Amino acid sequence: MERLRLGIILSVWCVCLVLLSAHPASGWHDRTHLAVAKAAGYESWYNAAGPDMAKMKFGPTEGTNHWCNNSAGVEVTPSFVLDQVKQYNKASDQEGHLYGAIIASIRAYVQDKEEGKYAGYHMAFCAHYIGDLSMPLHNVPYDAFNETRHNTNDGTVDLGVLNNIGMIQKNMYPIVIRDEPDLAREIARIANIARRLAAKLREENRDMTQDEVYAELSHSASLLRAVMFYAKRENSSSLCGSTSTMKSAQVSAPVDINRLARNIAVADHHESCVSDLFYSAKTADRHKIGVQ
Ligand SMILES: [Zn+2]
Ligand SMILES: [Zn+2]
Repeated sequence: MERLRLGIILSVWCVCLVLLSAHPASGWHDRTHLAVAKAAGYESWYNAAGPDMAKMKFGPTEGTNHWCNNSAGVEVTPSFVLDQVKQYNKASDQEGHLYGAIIASIRAYVQDKEEGKYAGYHMAFCAHYIGDLSMPLHNVPYDAFNETRHNTNDGTVDLGVLNNIGMIQKNMYPIVIRDEPDLAREIARIANIARRLAAKLREENRDMTQDEVYAELSHSASLLRAVMFYAKRENSSSLCGSTSTMKSAQVSAPVDINRLARNIAVADHHESCVSDLFYSAKTADRHKIGVQ
């Protein structure tokens, strides 16, 4: 009887180990997540590493929100992203659903706000997932290459990153999200950039350079900043044109608008009132640097 019980315990333990090893336990290391959140001006930046703590208690229920294997190796599309939303917090999804988790956590944030509940932790989850989005090895299968290189690449800039927020901000660029399809498109775009970098690393059999990491983090910070405006807008139709309303969105740390404005090319097609203040600065700077 005692033997049988021991056998059952060992079996359960083995199953747990297999599930936990399906993909790495960590994303970018903690300080790197915090730095992305700070660079984006997220008021509660100190919560951005919390979702990795949640993984320790909830295993794959939380863990599968942090990566996407994309085993088929296909280009990520907006519909690929949106199809994952229903998998949020589903431990059984062996493929991982990082992209859907970003959208699902924002939906939860908006809904709880509307219901008058405290919604801040949903935004913290979202901020973390957006950080993981730019980690190349969270966008590809956890094979031998990924396993060997993963921890090192998660921690490439971690030691000094909180003193180098400007290294992230200098490559940030404007993104405007007006609706969920916009959000899905931006998630897909950044996922594909990360996947391409992962393929390059694999081909060259090497780790990321610090410059490559900072460039990736800038994509995450740019998206997070846009998502904070979007979430606020979803929650309040009166966002447009009011700097006081913008202040109350969970955006605090001032970002160097002029510096951001130099990186306008990728967002030239966007038109929205969401970031009037941001865009008026951008337009002024655009004239100054002769870009139109
Ligand atoms: Zn993570
Ligand atoms: Zn990781």
